[in-house]
Amino acid sequence: MTVNCLFCKIVSREIAAQIVFEDDKIIAINDINPAAPVHILIIPKEHIASLAEISEQHNDLLGHIQLTAARLAKDLKISEQGYRLVNNCGIWGGQTVLHLHYHLLGGRELSWPPG
Ligand code: AMP
Ligand code: ZN
Repeated sequence: MTVNCLFCKIVSREIAAQIVFEDDKIIAINDINPAAPVHILIIPKEHIASLAEISEQHNDLLGHIQLTAARLAKDLKISEQGYRLVNNCGIWGGQTVLHLHYHLLGGRELSWPPG
């Protein structure tokens, strides 16, 4: 756990969150400021600052995140209409929490390209 990291504190239960899924590798929570009817954050339990920090050793973890996102989307009935899985990386990518996470967004039609 990295001190003063919001998502590490959510993983360790120091800060409360609405958990929608958890296993040994990841936790999925409802975003506190939802941008769509479904807005879930999928967060690895390991502290990785951003996608720019990943290496070969994270291959399985990243695959697991994608498979979990697809399964959650089916469970939440947003899969048929379609949804988006987003990672914001770094300052220009719009990342505000420096612990790797993916946004699962759905439940409404999403526009493209992003701002
Ligand atoms: P990003 O801008 O990609 O780093 O995404 C960070 C996300 O974390 C934003 O969508 C925030 O709304 C969300 N967020 C911030 N604090 C919390 C919290 N305590 N619980 C759940 N989501 C949060
Ligand atoms: Zn962290």
